[in-house]
Amino acid sequence: MQPRIIVHGGAGAIADALVKGHLQGCREAAEEGLRLLWEGAPAEEAVERAICLLEDDEVFDAGRGSFLNMDGVVEMDAAFMEGASLLVGAVAGVRKFAHPISLARLVMESEHVLLVGEGATRFALSHGLRQCPAEWLIVPREREAWERQRRAQGVGDTVGAVALDERGHLAVGLSTGGRPFKFPGRVGDVPCVGAGFYVDDGAGGVAASGEGEAILRVALARRVMEQLERGIHPQEAASWAIGLLYQRVGGHAGLIVLDRQGRVGCAFNTRRMSRAWNEGKEIIACIERG
Ligand code: ASP
Repeated sequence: MQPRIIVHGGAGAIADALVKGHLQGCREAAEEGLRLLWEGAPAEEAVERAICLLEDDEVFDAGRGSFLNMDGVVEMDAAFMEGASLLVGAVAGVRKFAHPISLARLVMESEHVLLVGEGATRFALSHGLRQCPAEWLIVPREREAWERQRRAQGVGDTVGAVALDERGHLAVGLSTGGRPFKFPGRVGDVPCVGAGFYVDDGAGGVAASGEGEAILRVALARRVMEQLERGIHPQEAASWAIGLLYQRVGGHAGLIVLDRQGRVGCAFNTRRMSRAWNEGKEIIACIERG
């Protein structure tokens, strides 16, 4: 099997000033994930490493650089899933962690599926993860945005990755600071299996970004999976699901999709969606439509 990876840096109204950073960040994350896959690493390693890089890159709404909630605090959600045994791990409303994706992966490897807030923190600490200062996650851009109370319109810099390793095994991961100025305790689609993500070695995998409430209401990731299970091309599956999201609930979002044969797809009805994927050893990064 030829290794394949597709990553995204969010679907939304990505500002012109951030376009270059988005493209570069996605490209570097896809490159690093692909390098691991070519070395024979499992899909989980490629996904975790790619997302850690995106979390460290403050251009994205994940890890450092996350949106602030109404109280001026960073609260993050993340999820991990692997396609052989359908193991899922997710966390919601976690603070003071540089890499929520690594915490989600630890949850996936435990008996739990979803841990929130204080309990997720206790689990992380008992598994040796270290906390970072809450202030370290906040970058000046987001502090200023919070001060302007820039509500809702900025959805768009969640990160996600789907990888297929040489054994034909798939994994998916997502990480987000959620929506700007969100209500404390608000949780979107990202840690919810079947909404923001799904993966199954028998069909393919998908990661979403965009308006979490809308994505949840149509169980968007499962809609895509139903198409993949019928052998529909990932591009067609992604476009169809975004159409359905808009028709049924007026939602705006984007999807990256990778099927078990290594075919990729991406669709969005937001202004932009940053993403990168490989064609053989070459990485392609885009942010506009087409
Ligand atoms: N889907 C994320 C959420 O609603 C936000 C995003 O993708 O930008 O939390």
